[in-house]
Amino acid sequence: MSQPLFRTPKGTHDVLPEDHQYMTYIKKAVRHRARQAGYKRIDTPMFENKAIFERGIGEHTDIVEKELFLVTSKQKEDEEAKFALRPEFTAGICRSFIEHGMQQLPQPVELYAIGQCFRHDRPQKGRYRQFHQFNMEVIGLKDPSIDAQLILVLAKIFGDIKILDRLELNINNIGTAENRAAYTEALKDFFIGKERNLPELDQARLQTNPLRLLDSKEEDTQILLKNAPAMDQFLDDESKEYHKTVLEYLDELDIKYVENPTLVRGLDYYTQTVFEFLDNETGSQNAVGGGGRYDGLIELFGGQPTPGIGFAGGLERIVWHMKQAGIKVPHKDQVDVFVAQLGPEAKKTCLKLISELRDKGVHTLGALGEASLKSQMRLADKFDARYTLLLGKMEVKGGTIILKDMAAGKQKEIPFEEAIPKVIELLGGKDKLDTYTMRDQFVDVDED
Ligand code: AMP
Repeated sequence: MSQPLFRTPKGTHDVLPEDHQYMTYIKKAVRHRARQAGYKRIDTPMFENKAIFERGIGEHTDIVEKELFLVTSKQKEDEEAKFALRPEFTAGICRSFIEHGMQQLPQPVELYAIGQCFRHDRPQKGRYRQFHQFNMEVIGLKDPSIDAQLILVLAKIFGDIKILDRLELNINNIGTAENRAAYTEALKDFFIGKERNLPELDQARLQTNPLRLLDSKEEDTQILLKNAPAMDQFLDDESKEYHKTVLEYLDELDIKYVENPTLVRGLDYYTQTVFEFLDNETGSQNAVGGGGRYDGLIELFGGQPTPGIGFAGGLERIVWHMKQAGIKVPHKDQVDVFVAQLGPEAKKTCLKLISELRDKGVHTLGALGEASLKSQMRLADKFDARYTLLLGKMEVKGGTIILKDMAAGKQKEIPFEEAIPKVIELLGGKDKLDTYTMRDQFVDVDED
């Protein structure tokens, strides 16, 4: 093989057809469950004013401090970049909520999105610089039942794609912004005089974002934290009651969860309920998704005070889990019929035959080159076609065509006009074919 001149940039990857079969399947489950629950699809730009991320997610979070991809242009090369590629969806969706006056719509507004996000992180297993998320947001109404219902939709999606039993739902309540501020102060106080015992990274976090210490992977930090004040001592009664009710609703809905008092999620905009679906073997390193409430975010962006809760799941990590679990997804990429031909007359006839078969919903490939019939048949085998239709000079003259069942290795000559009905019958009838009607187009369009 020749040496390629170019490769994908570090931390990015091509989504090849085989992985798309998984991606399509996951997106289908997301769309299906979202629609059932009244969520509508939204797409926001892949890049936004970077201030949205700085203010919303927080200047002292890893995502903003280290991982933003800044966007600039040739004309503005020498100026400070104003835009950044989205590292997540929530901030952009909240910007859109305000910009389009969605508070005028019946509340809550339920939105979902699927697309690429970008973080300039150190690439490693399950961590890319460009990756896909599906995202669900419920904005405009606050009630513990809304939190539980969002989690239920997610559990249904993970159930549909058969990885729910590989995941563990962790949940916590981090209180109001005021509760969090009080707790942050207490943590800072606790560490006065102990800073030198913290690893360098956590010393820095103590200054900028002390809550991040709670889910630090550093052993020294975790040992010190054993005697630190706990978050739940700082929760107001309302938050405690709210949390209790969310858990009661989860019990009622038969959703398994683990209460995890150290779960904080890294971003500044979270308040109260936070949750993650973790890999039940390796834990937080490989969360397939996480989310939480952000009751102050819309106001922070200049909108009316509006509560919200959201979730983001990572498609690459979900695909990994599905493969680990040995899940083979059904897909529609199989080749039903391969049309082989020889001679100029046969070629003309076959062009039309292929087009008619495709219109009927039969997945059809045709060898329209000048190869011998033998090598065309080899090609049919390589494409894994179920049937081959073969039209040579003799058949054209006789008004017939040869139909071969590839698995059985049997073939017979049939009248040419019977070719299409016969193939449809063999494939299980019209209902089994991949037809595309206007109804499908309006109701069940396969978006990206
Ligand atoms: P987060 O909001 O950071 O917890 O991200 C939500 C989900 O997106 C994670 O649980 C992952 O599944 C996925 N995700 C986040 N960052 C990356 C990344 N760099 N590469 C791949 N997937 C990611």
